[in-house]
Amino acid sequence: MKCELCGGEVEKKMVSYILFYEGHWVIVDKVPAKVCKQCGEKLFSPEVVENLQKIIWSKQKPIKKVETPVFELV
Ligand SMILES: [Zn+2]
Repeated sequence: MKCELCGGEVEKKMVSYILFYEGHWVIVDKVPAKVCKQCGEKLFSPEVVENLQKIIWSKQKPIKKVETPVFELV
């Protein structure tokens, strides 16, 4: 399988999925993805995306909360 963006080689990895949802950053750890070695693009299978949405929409209690530093460029 090749990267859809640059055609680079992809490898299976566990990554963190980060999403801005209802005014909060939500992080899901240990998500299986294929990561491009060339451009770093993360590709998720449809089943993984479905599970991610279930976790986020179900509003279950997170295992932990982290503080996120926020910057502005302008
Ligand atoms: Zn790529």
